[in-house]
Amino acid sequence: MLRVAVVGSGPSGVYAAQTLVQQGEVPGVRVDVLDRLPAPYGLVRYGVAPDHEKIKSLTGNLRSVLEDDRIRFLGNVEVGGESLSTARLLELYHAVVYCVGAARDRTLGIPGEELAGVHSATAFVSWYSGHPDATPFDLAGVRSAVVIGAGNVAVDVTRILARGAPELEPTDMPHAALGVLAASELREVSMVARRGPSQGRFTTKELRELGTLPGVGIGVLAAEAALDPAYADPGAAAALPAVARRNLEVIRGWAQAEPGDAGEAERRITLRFHLRPVEVLGGPEGRVRAVRFERTAPDGRGGVSGTGTYEDIEAQLVLRSVGYLGVPLPGLPFDASRGTVPHAAGRVLRDGRTSPGEYVAGWIKRGPTGVIGTNRPCAKETVSSLLQDAGALAARGGPAGDPLDALRAAGLRPVEWPGWLAIESAEERLGHSLGRRSVKIPDWAGLRDAAGLA
Ligand code: NAP
Repeated sequence: MLRVAVVGSGPSGVYAAQTLVQQGEVPGVRVDVLDRLPAPYGLVRYGVAPDHEKIKSLTGNLRSVLEDDRIRFLGNVEVGGESLSTARLLELYHAVVYCVGAARDRTLGIPGEELAGVHSATAFVSWYSGHPDATPFDLAGVRSAVVIGAGNVAVDVTRILARGAPELEPTDMPHAALGVLAASELREVSMVARRGPSQGRFTTKELRELGTLPGVGIGVLAAEAALDPAYADPGAAAALPAVARRNLEVIRGWAQAEPGDAGEAERRITLRFHLRPVEVLGGPEGRVRAVRFERTAPDGRGGVSGTGTYEDIEAQLVLRSVGYLGVPLPGLPFDASRGTVPHAAGRVLRDGRTSPGEYVAGWIKRGPTGVIGTNRPCAKETVSSLLQDAGALAARGGPAGDPLDALRAAGLRPVEWPGWLAIESAEERLGHSLGRRSVKIPDWAGLRDAAGLA
């Protein structure tokens, strides 16, 4: 028997577990999928926006993998903490695949970023997704917000800020977060990109959705968008990748000559381009009052350069959405410049040499890019490496007994699959009691209680 631990139960971890048992090359493979949280599914549960039900429904596929007889979910198990080091984990299993994602956000590195009212998009996403480590948001007094960045996360947070409560109510958003968003007096969200409309990192479906929100107007300043040569010149646009061409088409459809014309809309989204953030400006109480941007111009090589002209956009809430960053796991090597674990085809490298039995997949392997499906081939490459090494791994000598006993002996209290199902049922009951569908339990005590650990 080959015992493998997969650390992280998001898409990359689940796909790694699935590939391990489905390759069939090692008949006796058994996989434990460990997660720090009592609940599985990683960013599908705690990152995919609650109003994106179709992507959320992917949990159905992930669930059937975790219910496979050869796979065991063990939540509430932190690896790299006091009770369970990475070295100890490797004693308990023949191999360990780290699929721990990229838990931190990138910062802007500009003055004023620490002011009250400036947050990372990841903190905002964690809050409305009911992550038990999230800090509550207070939107009192917020009438305009600035979102910095032009990726799909920026689109997600812009959309959630602009959406009305009736559309969020049917989701599984925690009740407190729903209440805060419902009471919000936010009227204007500016999503600001430092480059042009053809260089946004968003996908077209997500971008287009911003123009379909009930009661929400959308606008783009035509003159600003036209700073991007591909916006105005069909010849330049023709040379672009298909997604950029489609994005341009959508953005052209929203162009307007003057700012601020949102008709009858209750709220308004404005996409801004060619503006890079240089400073967050504070008011008298140390809260953000505006963001200062420098106008940029294309540098002819795909980048932009500053023009020395500035514009302040008023905001009482600023969300920076400029990408995720991997976090070092104690005991594992880490490339701080890339925010990833060094590897060769998924095999962890220590000082340039393969570390026997240790593997990586997902964002901690390749960086925080790609959609959920990108994790499939990524996990497959890693598992192929692992299975090629299976003979040598088995020869290392097997773990003595069931690793679960060792985890318990170390003082850990794993949440097994029935514990997770109990959380799911408790969330359904909570939703029912609130007149909603299933509603997330957003705190550690509530999750552990529901799992029967109290
Ligand atoms: P991302 O796609 O890498 O986008 C980051 C954005 O931040 C880019 O527009 C980038 O601009 C900008 N940026 C970086 N540094 C900046 C700075 N100092 N000042 C101003 N702007 C800056 O990251 P993400 O949005 O966090 O998404 C992460 C991954 O998750 C992506 O692969 C995304 O597609 C995926 N995702 C998918 C979905 C979905 O499919 N619905 C939803 C959420 C996330 P430049 O291009 O100029 O560098």
